[in-house]
Amino acid sequence: MNNNINVLNPRTGQVDFSFERPSLGFITDECKRLKESQEAWSEAPLAQRISVMLKWAEQINIHRDKIINAESTDTGRWKIASESPDAVIWSIKGWCDKAGEIIDEASVAGNSSIMPHIKLSQKLAAYPLLGVISPWNFPFLLSCIDAIPALIAGSAAIIKPSEVTPRFIESLNETIIKVPELEKILSYVMGDGITGSQIIDNVDIVCFTGSVSTGRKVAEQCAKNFIPVFLELGGKDPVIVTKDADINVATDAVLRGAVFATGQICYSIERIYVHESIHDEFVELIIKKSKDIKLNDKDIHKGHIGPMIFNKQSTIIDSQIEDALHKGAILKTGGKSEKINGGIYYRPTVITEVDHSMNIMNDETFGPIMPIMKFSSDEEAVTLANDTDYGLSGAVIAGTEPDAMKIGSKINAGGISLMDTTLTGAILRDAEKNSFNFSGLGGSRMGPASIMRFFRKKAFMTNTKNPQRMEDIREL
Ligand code: NAD
Repeated sequence: MNNNINVLNPRTGQVDFSFERPSLGFITDECKRLKESQEAWSEAPLAQRISVMLKWAEQINIHRDKIINAESTDTGRWKIASESPDAVIWSIKGWCDKAGEIIDEASVAGNSSIMPHIKLSQKLAAYPLLGVISPWNFPFLLSCIDAIPALIAGSAAIIKPSEVTPRFIESLNETIIKVPELEKILSYVMGDGITGSQIIDNVDIVCFTGSVSTGRKVAEQCAKNFIPVFLELGGKDPVIVTKDADINVATDAVLRGAVFATGQICYSIERIYVHESIHDEFVELIIKKSKDIKLNDKDIHKGHIGPMIFNKQSTIIDSQIEDALHKGAILKTGGKSEKINGGIYYRPTVITEVDHSMNIMNDETFGPIMPIMKFSSDEEAVTLANDTDYGLSGAVIAGTEPDAMKIGSKINAGGISLMDTTLTGAILRDAEKNSFNFSGLGGSRMGPASIMRFFRKKAFMTNTKNPQRMEDIREL
């Protein structure tokens, strides 16, 4: 088997980085090494784990330029890459602040309500080794979004980011080496699906972020190994814009929600339902605003959106647009992928006269494409929004927040933005959400439940009276 994995630069389309897939022996040994140190890590006081995590945050800050440059090369964009070290540092600090309170709240002590003479207590036991498998769209942040609470909980972690965007791992490893206590229980490895699968065979719990099709394979393997798995998968997020919505606000929110990060976000807006009475005006304005969005092809520091990170995605997007146009949709602006200096770009694309017979309204697109469909009643809009295999998130823009809430509460998805779109990132440690349908499986990655996913619970029971004697037990 060829173990060499080539990585394309999304701005040039050229292979300018490659790495060797690690051997199975390496993965097995690495997992063993991490597990050996995990017991001491989990038995250390929480304050000690927190101080180690904060040392890591300092090192990330010190190495920020290298990490940013590597992620920027992998993703072909600057602004988002330049913010990723801060996003991770905030996540570490935020979890360090909140963990104690959440863990304390989970403690149980007292007496049994069924047998009051039995005294109870409960201990949390962190899963020894977490395996993280992550995607290419936000390489650094998504590689550690689950690992940070897990490490604070007392687990060790082995993390395999996507083979499409692996460059940041080298600079990140420099930060881990600088914190010896962390190096014992955290390992980042480069690898592809083969490595991901080998990791699953050597860990105690898995957090996977990626596509539904890979998520299914990961879940099957975890089921065979009898280990818990948390899946954060794709979306086909709808937005409903009602007849009373402010069209200027709605077009701003929908455009940003659909094209930010070139639409390469799991919770990007991918289906737009607009009340028939404002449809034409909405379409006209969003086209106008779309034309002001600039590509960053000439200068990575300028423009609003970058190239496709994973160029194979453009084949999917092109075929969805083609299928829609073939079935009667109308292309209003944007359209086919453009190859510029070897990178593949899309301009914000508006398509009208779409319906649910088209792939573009059913399958995940992962590009800056805005299919817009009319509706005539709120009930119809909700039915359309819920006519999907997905259920990650959604949005409602109405005349008032209570009106938006009325409609939003009927949408089958985990995160619903009201009077705006794509606000999911705001709830990180504060509120919980679950995925509906094929968008995911398992407990919430957000809110207090996030850290609690990494604990098993042990209950301790003490009889405060003499033990019951067998001879006193009579069969009735
Ligand atoms: P993908 O499923 O192709 O790959 C994800 C990861 O799985 C990669 O690291 C890959 O190497 C690994 N992998 C592949 N086969 C494997 C196997 N058999 N066993 C174990 N690991 C395996 O996804 P992608 O193309 O990298 O990412 C895009 C997808 O991720 C989109 O569907 C997007 O919606 C989704 N996503 C979801 C969220 C979320 O929070 N819900 C966030 C970001 C991205």
